[in-house]
Amino acid sequence: MPNIFTNCCECNNSSQTFKDNLLILDYLNKSSIPTEIGIKVIKLSQNINNCDYCSIYGRTNKLCDIHYKKAKKSGKLFGQFPNKSFYTNKNNGAVCSTCCFEFII
Ligand SMILES: [Zn+2]
Ligand SMILES: [Zn+2]
Repeated sequence: MPNIFTNCCECNNSSQTFKDNLLILDYLNKSSIPTEIGIKVIKLSQNINNCDYCSIYGRTNKLCDIHYKKAKKSGKLFGQFPNKSFYTNKNNGAVCSTCCFEFII
């Protein structure tokens, strides 16, 4: 779920990144940077990647760097299933957890 700091679909309010960002926001606040600006700065400082399979399902799930790395690992894993050969053409691709679920069923 995206939160105030990111459009990543897999980040949530209990993730370490969210907690880290809260600390950064607190620090920015203490340096007299207003909350709205702080949130914008934090959001802009983060890299956002696309899941390589979402387009097949008409989705556009976005992933932060941490979740993109995880999605790349899932991509490698799914590439090893012969019956998923449709996907193996792109076995270096990133698979978000929503797509992982589609692959399993
Ligand atoms: Zn994330
Ligand atoms: Zn996806």
